Amino acid sequence: MKSLVLDSGKLYIRDKDVPTTVGDDDVEIKIHTVGICGSDVHYYKHGRIGPFVVKEPMILGHEASGIITKVGKNVKHLAVGDRVCMEPGIPNLSSIQSKSGFYNLDPEVRFWATPPIDGCLRESVVHPAAFTFKLPDHVSFTEGAMVEPLAIGMQSATKAQIKPGDIALVMGAGPIGVMTALSALAGGCAEVIICDVVDDKLSIAAQYQGIHTVNSKTTNLVDVVKEFTDGNGVDVLFECSGSPNAIAQLTDYVAPNGTVVLVGMPISPTPIDIVSAQAKEITFKTIFRYVNMYPKTIRLLASGKINLKPLISAVYKFPQAVEAFDRAASGNPQDVKIIIEME
Ligand code: ZN
Repeated sequence: MKSLVLDSGKLYIRDKDVPTTVGDDDVEIKIHTVGICGSDVHYYKHGRIGPFVVKEPMILGHEASGIITKVGKNVKHLAVGDRVCMEPGIPNLSSIQSKSGFYNLDPEVRFWATPPIDGCLRESVVHPAAFTFKLPDHVSFTEGAMVEPLAIGMQSATKAQIKPGDIALVMGAGPIGVMTALSALAGGCAEVIICDVVDDKLSIAAQYQGIHTVNSKTTNLVDVVKEFTDGNGVDVLFECSGSPNAIAQLTDYVAPNGTVVLVGMPISPTPIDIVSAQAKEITFKTIFRYVNMYPKTIRLLASGKINLKPLISAVYKFPQAVEAFDRAASGNPQDVKIIIEME
């Protein structure tokens, strides 16, 4: 099947053998749109993320939407022709974690484009129907593909247990930072402050009502937080930068009894000021991908409460997929999401 294959650090559009048998609980999906993720780019540039090393040729891509072309005989909620998006991680549904409701924490989860599992930048995929979700008519294929990164923001906002009127700080204005800010607003935050050290990234976030941007290199973030919170600190802080410097200082910004959600992944073990956190009884939470977030994320997109259009930076057709990846790898700070359409 025609696919975008990462082989020894280079990308090729070429044929690759992939399973095509549709099981009783599966659907076959003709891929329509795929978003390029930071992790895809990382595998392209570095060949590994932590313990996950690309040893064999691997198809990239995990943020996808498409059209159902076949359904297994047990599948009731989907039909041929349905527009859908797919959760890229397939857990073992019999694992202790899955049975406890945390299928994202199943160590056996098979996640698209995480070696050695092939991703979805190919003509079609066979996928469990249980992890395939119908898109409402007015949610586009591009929005459908962006459900995946948005679900991480949704998981973060859900873990934070936001209360109506809370004020949040998001550290890091990359795609996940902005999507977390949008999820926090949808979850009831009155205001979200987002900080970064790159103005081009902040200018994209600044297009949204309710998001206040701060360049933490040129402006004193503590002062801004005080101004927004009557000197008290933010109710919720989302750490999306993964930067050790940001993480070392995060207790300065949080209100007593506030919550910190650690979203960004630092590349190595990173210190946190524990005593400062104790003096405020800060609650720390972490997230790993998302669990049961697709239906809620799709509902919010359908409701119009989250608008992803300002985050779509460029759309490429599949024959230009390598070019699209080279652009993503160049790290232009004005680019948020680069999209590939299969035809
Ligand atoms: Zn992603």
